[in-house]
Amino acid sequence: MAWGKNLVGAFHLPQAVIIDPHVLYTLPIRQWRAGVGEVIKSALIDGQWLWERLNHAVPALGSEEWDSLVEATAAIKIAIVNNDLEETASRMYLNFGHTVAHGLENYLGYGRITHGEAVAMGTRIALALSEDVLGLDEAVRRTVERWMVEWELPLTIPLANWSAVWEAMTQDKKSRAHGLQWVLLKKVGQPVIYRNLPQSQVQDTMERILST
Ligand SMILES: [Zn+2]
Repeated sequence: MAWGKNLVGAFHLPQAVIIDPHVLYTLPIRQWRAGVGEVIKSALIDGQWLWERLNHAVPALGSEEWDSLVEATAAIKIAIVNNDLEETASRMYLNFGHTVAHGLENYLGYGRITHGEAVAMGTRIALALSEDVLGLDEAVRRTVERWMVEWELPLTIPLANWSAVWEAMTQDKKSRAHGLQWVLLKKVGQPVIYRNLPQSQVQDTMERILST
């Protein structure tokens, strides 16, 4: 498909979410890496147990400590989705880190980086923009960067054409309908929706944070 993914949506709520940790523990480590992008995001927007737990000690990928972390991550998503089926406000918080992530995936072509790797990079950008726009404490990004290093997630991506990544971001179905939308953080656990950040600001931040 030329345009990307997630171009149409449908509402159908699951009756249950069943996660078998034994299956999870058979996955290759790169798939674990892909999964923790969403764990980082969930910890940041929720700011409660999961954030505290990861701050306390960073668990090794694939270790059995993840049982409770996977459950907490799913619980955060379920609570947010149940509160907001129409995706009017709080559900957008789940898109934290995804504005840039979708742009990177779109620009690179799906399969070049995993969704989770793109989300982790997008999260770094969202945190850096949160510092610039909302005065978020830089220590939050430093903490997340420490986890990413620990889990061997790529922090940077060598790209020549950042304005093409911006173009790719604006191809997303939701940004076409409503303008490019950002989830930023005022504090951990306090997400804020932002629209229309200037392209130059976003591009400068992407370039500064992702190419060094
Ligand atoms: Zn995602």
